[in-house]
Amino acid sequence: MPDVRNCRRCGKIFTYTGGMQICHICKEQDEIDFRKVKEYLYNHPGATMSEVSSALEISVERIKGYLREGRLEIVGDMGNLILECESCGKAIRSGRFCDECSRGLASEMQLTAKDMTDMSKTGQQPNAKGVGMRYLNKDVRK
Ligand SMILES: [Zn+2]
Ligand SMILES: [Zn+2]
Repeated sequence: MPDVRNCRRCGKIFTYTGGMQICHICKEQDEIDFRKVKEYLYNHPGATMSEVSSALEISVERIKGYLREGRLEIVGDMGNLILECESCGKAIRSGRFCDECSRGLASEMQLTAKDMTDMSKTGQQPNAKGVGMRYLNKDVRK
């Protein structure tokens, strides 16, 4: 049974073969648009995202998508073409998070794993309150 899905861009049904969920026609168009953007940036260093978008009639979202996928990287004078870190909003060149946040996310994940181990350990230990109570009772008896 072929894996048939709807193209996320044009809505047509196509046989999904992996990667982005778009049909081969849209994929081809995407490739052409991507090359156009790259070429435009090469010829117009320092162009802003909206300039590229209106000159090529490609939506800003699509251009941002190329940057997010890491296919297009902002180099040199293309400083106006910026993405924001999805976590702190800092300007980044490609991807989804700035260096700091991707490091932070990694350590946060480690912390969560550690917390979970600690919690399961604590669950097996005798109740601290119970120990205190026993101690208190002994004092009273003296
Ligand atoms: Zn399509
Ligand atoms: Zn960040």
